[in-house]
Amino acid sequence: MNYKHHALACIITAIILSIIGLATNHLTTETLVYFWIGVIPYTLVITCDLDSASSVVTKLFGPFNIFAPFADFGHREVLHHYAWGPFVLIGWWLIPALWIGYTIHIEIIAGAVSMLWCHMFTDMVYSGCKRVVPKCVVKGVKYVVKGIKRVC
Ligand SMILES: [Zn+2]
Repeated sequence: MNYKHHALACIITAIILSIIGLATNHLTTETLVYFWIGVIPYTLVITCDLDSASSVVTKLFGPFNIFAPFADFGHREVLHHYAWGPFVLIGWWLIPALWIGYTIHIEIIAGAVSMLWCHMFTDMVYSGCKRVVPKCVVKGVKYVVKGIKRVC
């Protein structure tokens, strides 16, 4: 799954979670802002794909990619794990921030973790579909879609 599709899936998920949070009174207008403070960077800049040298986010970080050592474990390994991924990708700033006594709102963590899990889930669904659906079916669907586009 590419960067644009991941970002779109995460933003749609964040909007749905925001609506649910507001409707169920788990979020207020103030905590909604904190939720989106967690959502935006973990959708656009700090994603699980920092473990791949060819990903868009790795190129954004360039030589300052502090997660580069995780690429040695392989793409879709540690940073794509449902527990270790958020621990590593959030812990690098959370632990020092808590250590110096900074107040961290739980909504920021919730926004960040939900976006990382959304990324992992969409990766899993996309890969699962690629494995389940035979290539000949995919080619056939693409052929039909091309034909429809030509007619329209
Ligand atoms: Zn990924």
